[in-house]
Amino acid sequence: MKKTKRQLKALAALNLDLFEPEVISVPAPATIHARIRDCARPAAVAVSSLDEVEAPELATELPSVAELYSLFDRYNWMYFEGALPRPSVEYSPRMTSAGAYLPGRRLIRMGLKYHRIFPEEIADTLKHEMIHIIHLKHDAAFKAEASRIGASLRAKSHPSLRRPPRYIYVCDNCGCEYPRQKRLRMASCGTCSTGGRYDRRFKLRLKDSANRRQKTLRR
Ligand SMILES: [Zn+2]
Ligand SMILES: [Zn+2]
Repeated sequence: MKKTKRQLKALAALNLDLFEPEVISVPAPATIHARIRDCARPAAVAVSSLDEVEAPELATELPSVAELYSLFDRYNWMYFEGALPRPSVEYSPRMTSAGAYLPGRRLIRMGLKYHRIFPEEIADTLKHEMIHIIHLKHDAAFKAEASRIGASLRAKSHPSLRRPPRYIYVCDNCGCEYPRQKRLRMASCGTCSTGGRYDRRFKLRLKDSANRRQKTLRR
């Protein structure tokens, strides 16, 4: 399938975790989605209030949750003789990875942000997470199933989807910046400190934080 400009740009910033899935023999997802859309009324999708503004976009680009269940059933029959127990399936507006399976809650989560960039990978992600219902880890058994049904081997995520750092620390000695999600208490620059130990001469200084940025915006 031809990639859009936005996808190519995103792919350029890619880490090795993301790769092209093998060509699979089932109809292209676009065809499946179109067919499902013809037969099924789009259902409302549960997203948090954070995402409500963007939700309409979902109706045109991504399958609804009801359609995800239909896809699940379809793949269950195609590849597992219908033997997989049906988990809950939902979109996660916050997750930056493509998908996840939570065995404790018997829940498949599909990353909304990821699939807004790569909508054609929905089917692949779903198949990958379906294998996790029977094989939790990406072990040899998982890989055998993945190649049998033509699903990606590894969970995919995209660096451009990661949340911006809450804190940015800087080393005044070498100028290195350390973006972090968590506050650092006793930390010194890894480049300047010797022997991998804390060195107070190179203690990191808080340069910027999400709080400060908020305050600046309010001014
Ligand atoms: Zn996985
Ligand atoms: Zn330094």
